[in-house]
Amino acid sequence: MKKPRGVHDILPGEVERWQHLEGVIRELTRVYGYREIRTPVFEFTELFQRGVGEETDIVAKEMYSFPDRRGRSLSLRPEGTAPVVRAFIENNLHTWPQPVKLYYTGPMFRYDRPQAWRYRQFHQFGVEVFGSADPAVDAEVIALLMEFYERIGLKELTLEINSVGCAECRADLTGALRNYFTSRLKELCRDCRARLGRNPLRLLDCKEEKCRGLAREAPVPLQFLCSRCEAHFQAVLKELETLNIGYAINPCLVRGLDYYTGTAFEVTVLDAGAQNALGGGGRYDNLVETCGGRPTPGVGFAVGLERTLYALEQQGVKLPGAASLEAFVATAGEVAAAKLSGVLRLLREAGIAADRDYTGRGLKGQLKQAHRRSARWVVILGDEELSRGNMAVRDMDTGEQAELPETELVRWLRTRQSKTDVLVKDY
Ligand SMILES: [Zn+2]
Ligand SMILES: [Zn+2]
Repeated sequence: MKKPRGVHDILPGEVERWQHLEGVIRELTRVYGYREIRTPVFEFTELFQRGVGEETDIVAKEMYSFPDRRGRSLSLRPEGTAPVVRAFIENNLHTWPQPVKLYYTGPMFRYDRPQAWRYRQFHQFGVEVFGSADPAVDAEVIALLMEFYERIGLKELTLEINSVGCAECRADLTGALRNYFTSRLKELCRDCRARLGRNPLRLLDCKEEKCRGLAREAPVPLQFLCSRCEAHFQAVLKELETLNIGYAINPCLVRGLDYYTGTAFEVTVLDAGAQNALGGGGRYDNLVETCGGRPTPGVGFAVGLERTLYALEQQGVKLPGAASLEAFVATAGEVAAAKLSGVLRLLREAGIAADRDYTGRGLKGQLKQAHRRSARWVVILGDEELSRGNMAVRDMDTGEQAELPETELVRWLRTRQSKTDVLVKDY
């Protein structure tokens, strides 16, 4: 049996890197005052059609949708924001103290062309803040994102930022974009020609080279911001400066989704001479209302964890590898074998990672096994030592050996136990 295309197993040895990222996420969100939310991996398809937008590639081409047994269309979540918005509305979180600051991690699903480090089941870390339109919240969300990258050790990042404006600013912008691109229609890629009628804003961040050239000369949202959006954007930038966060204004940054209003941002990393997007987000002040809730401003981001791990690997950042076994308990003789499970339990209760053989190996085989498992200590229960009420223990790092009574064992190991006893492997 083989796994379907575009998914991957995370095996022991690699899973420690994931646990490390998850640990950073838990600690970082704790100090910023965000609380975790866990939503189901599938929702009614309609949620994504409304919340992400039927015209987006994600919904139009990439969703795993299927009818349930009663014929209702369900979809595996292709992104995390719409489900969190649905949960916010359905659970009346508008009655909680505002703003409500949430984070999530988990698998998302998109039927996309699999490439290196791009999967059909991939994982995201994201935050969403509801109930405040304060530009300081936009800046806080960005600060949290940048600190996440800093804490895991990622470098050579660029924060690109833009404002895509509100519905009011966009009325004039849309007309100007249509005029401009219609006059250059022959030079556009096929996708852009199709998008022009429905959502001309999207033409600004087409990845095709010929469209990018045109986009550089096109009218952009910043030229059409209403006074409210302009003031908000300037306040976000000022707050970023206060926080000492460098940024580059990219007037063509609109992100692929329909729901953004005002601030939009993206973090890219330099990889083999090209800037690759790692994560991004923005403000979505109409989304809660679009999904059936009362008008509630919101802002958030999402980060692809596979791509983050890939970037860490490219930069040679060392992450924790497998934690080693601390004590391997070996036995020789029948009296010893009867004592084995008691000693193991004693060690485990004391917080020492301990294991034994379960395949009937002789003493020599057990010692070999202890070595293969990289055990720091080997505890040997032999009939001879036991007849004196003792057991033997050997420190494999230092070669130190001792014969001790059971009551002394834990104390002996603990005084030698080091908190940094985790193998750091080359990533
Ligand atoms: Zn506006
Ligand atoms: Zn294009």
